[in-house]
Amino acid sequence: MEEIGHWINGKRVAGTSGRFADVYNPATGEITGKVALATPAELDAAIADAAKAQEGWAKVNPQRRARVMMKFGQLIERDMDKLAEVLSKEHGKTIPDAKGDVQRGLEVIEVCMGAPSMLKGEYTGDAGPGIDLYSMRQPLGVVAGITPFNFPAMIPLWKMGPALSAGNAMILKPSERVPNTALMLAELAQEAGLPDGVLQVVNGDKEAVDTILDHETIQGVGFVGSTPIAQYIYGRAATNGKRAQCFGGAKNHMLIMPDANMDMAADALIGAGYGAAGERCMAISVAVPVGEGTAEALIERLVPKIEKLKVGPYTGGDDVDYGPVITKQAQERIKGLITSGVEQGADLVVDGRDFSLQGYEDGFFVGPSLFDKVTPDMDIYKEEIFGPVLSMVRTKNYEEALDLVIDNPYGNGTAIYTADGDTARDFASKVNVGMVGINFPIPVPLSYYTFGGWKKSAFGDLNQYGPDAFRFYTKTKTVTARWFSGIKDGAALNFKALD
Ligand code: NAD
Repeated sequence: MEEIGHWINGKRVAGTSGRFADVYNPATGEITGKVALATPAELDAAIADAAKAQEGWAKVNPQRRARVMMKFGQLIERDMDKLAEVLSKEHGKTIPDAKGDVQRGLEVIEVCMGAPSMLKGEYTGDAGPGIDLYSMRQPLGVVAGITPFNFPAMIPLWKMGPALSAGNAMILKPSERVPNTALMLAELAQEAGLPDGVLQVVNGDKEAVDTILDHETIQGVGFVGSTPIAQYIYGRAATNGKRAQCFGGAKNHMLIMPDANMDMAADALIGAGYGAAGERCMAISVAVPVGEGTAEALIERLVPKIEKLKVGPYTGGDDVDYGPVITKQAQERIKGLITSGVEQGADLVVDGRDFSLQGYEDGFFVGPSLFDKVTPDMDIYKEEIFGPVLSMVRTKNYEEALDLVIDNPYGNGTAIYTADGDTARDFASKVNVGMVGINFPIPVPLSYYTFGGWKKSAFGDLNQYGPDAFRFYTKTKTVTARWFSGIKDGAALNFKALD
């Protein structure tokens, strides 16, 4: 069994704590490795070395740092297949989906190739007599990235790219469920020319996270994960005077208006509801048809499509639509929530609880499930299921559907399917959600925009990647400079002794 340690000062090192977490192949249920959980002393040492390395890295000019990003991007592309294989094995998602995970991270690295233009300050000449005013963006120092299991490449890359290209050092604490992908990325960053110590990958659990949150040297914390942990991390980091942006869970609704193209809407719900086994923070988990006719038309289309979905291991061929969920506990939790939905009165139209795959009986699979006639008081509506379960909440009119989204405590993503531009504009303008799709089910913004939810889906300020990330990972210093006139006027041409 593989023992997985940390990436410190440019090499893989074994953990010293004697504490480990199991890493699984979720498709088979086998334990494939054990990952070391760092002690506070291991973190102290990693942070101290990162602080030293950061001093040199911050002095490297921005264009040279951007060249490291260029090379890093090329290497990620070179090793796309290897990364996808490692990622799929420890996460369970299909190979094409794993490549998408790497690709959406790579796109952020591509934007970081242009970091120098994002790091420029501002300048006002002659702001007063002899006075010029200018601002500069300086790195924070050592920052931390704490990332979830569901995008083992993309989210670490969202954290690393802007933080490192802005001249910071980073302590990356990946999810202990998927440690290998982040370690591979660190190796590639080194091959690209990143100096040792600038990126330290420290594996661990709550103990490691708490050490980061209380550590004086850490200046900023970028977190992605579930809402309760995001809120906790935001509170503790902020109390300790750190800059923090903490992105949490989601319950994303898709409105389907009666004028929508029903075939397209049904396909969108299948992809956004069941892709990656529903383990995406931008998954659509609630379908909100407007009008009974819309609901019936959707159910009629969804059921045969769901029944055709092929669930299987990432090694199962190109036609596998989605894989297992991350752990046995996640599998049991999802099945438990499905049972609660039945008990609380929702119509379980397709039941995935008994799904089993020959040869993979111990894998953490959950079959696709569809609920109709869900109401907001049910647990399946209130909780983020984070599994292949789509809930349909029927509404009478557009206002009721819009209010449902507005009243939901989460605000990560949402979408509307309609043929009417006026309705779409009204929705985009009024809805209190950070990322909105119009006839587009998973509106993850491209890497030169920014990513972030509202309400309980994000705590702190500024979004991930794009221009916001460069603001988050830099401090602004503003200089007011005055130069008195006189010296040049008094220049003497004659050679004379100084007074
Ligand atoms: P999680 O909150 O369990 O873990 C995230 C990170 O926090 C991991 O590194 C983990 O080690 C650490 N952690 C866990 N418990 C902790 C504790 N008690 N104290 C300190 N640290 C702790 O999340 P997860 O299950 O890995 O990921 C799934 C969640 O992430 C979902 O809720 C999903 O919606 C969310 N997510 C959000 C976004 C977004 O951008 N908003 C993106 C991806 C995933």
